[in-house]
Amino acid sequence: MNLLSYDFMVRALLGALFTGLAAPAVGTYLVQRRLALMGDGIGHIAVTGVALGLLTGTSPTITAVVVAVIGAVVIEVIRESGRTSGDVALALLFYGGIAGGVLITGIAGQSAATLNSYLFGSITTISASDVWVTLVLAAVVVAIAVGLSPQLFAVSQDEEFAKVAGLNVRVYNLLVSVMAAVTVTVAMRTVGLLLVSALMVVPVATSQQLTRTFRTTLFAAMGLGMLASVGGVTVSAYVDAAPGATIVLLALAGFVAAYPVGVWLRRRQRLARPFVEPGDEPSFGGLGPEHTAVPEDHSHAHGEACGHTAVPHGDHVDYVHDGHRHAVHGGHYDEH
Ligand SMILES: [Zn+2]
Ligand SMILES: [Zn+2]
Ligand SMILES: [Zn+2]
Ligand SMILES: [Zn+2]
Repeated sequence: MNLLSYDFMVRALLGALFTGLAAPAVGTYLVQRRLALMGDGIGHIAVTGVALGLLTGTSPTITAVVVAVIGAVVIEVIRESGRTSGDVALALLFYGGIAGGVLITGIAGQSAATLNSYLFGSITTISASDVWVTLVLAAVVVAIAVGLSPQLFAVSQDEEFAKVAGLNVRVYNLLVSVMAAVTVTVAMRTVGLLLVSALMVVPVATSQQLTRTFRTTLFAAMGLGMLASVGGVTVSAYVDAAPGATIVLLALAGFVAAYPVGVWLRRRQRLARPFVEPGDEPSFGGLGPEHTAVPEDHSHAHGEACGHTAVPHGDHVDYVHDGHRHAVHGGHYDEH
């Protein structure tokens, strides 16, 4: 069976290709900001958007984009307010989105099967115009994710530090949220709303096992996402399984395979240079070799599992947090 001799398969593979590129591109920033579940939340809200499209007889993709973007902005506002009740507010929003969507779909006289094709994807039924919409939106998302990567990375890594550096943190955070909303709705027809978050996060997690700098993580994640989605569509065509679920399981299999390699790479790197000798700090990235011990209190010892961003710096690794770049030095931390 030659898949490419079927027009619907060619459209499915193209749709998968563009989604697989765009989802991890945005996902890299969400993971960096510890908002890995954001895509899932937006997906829940987008259900109401799909239902509104079915009810009004307009394109569900367009209404879903509008509702998802509004939802993403609301999420960002709630998150930024930093209230302790914030996560409850988000939960209300997400469950309201799902329930509202199911209710409105019923009122619109549409069957659960119609809604299902958006929840779990229905890539083999996408039209040529769907492919074009996916292509254009994915191209915009990828162009922003790659083109603005220095700014977006700075903001995602450490908001305080980015603020001090003069970046408009709020604008960039909103931009990432809106890109996430657009990606979720683009991925609606391929992996489906409920699985899109996986395609935004799993290739990034896999890529982080194998790469060390932010840019290589970004590009490797996009490559892995593309492989998983094109591979998933191909496999599902041969074994007659649901494409959305196959894509996600393939991405997860990639993570399971990469994890031991990541453990090995990190161990090797640690053994290569176990100690930092005082005074042999190379000058690097415009930062001088000065030795400034910081008396600041640390609730934990920085290390590869501490959760702070690790920046390779000459013969040692710096950890970025709260506007500092700290390097372990004997019993204290140096400011780098
Ligand atoms: Zn730390
Ligand atoms: Zn350093
Ligand atoms: Zn520190
Ligand atoms: Zn020192």
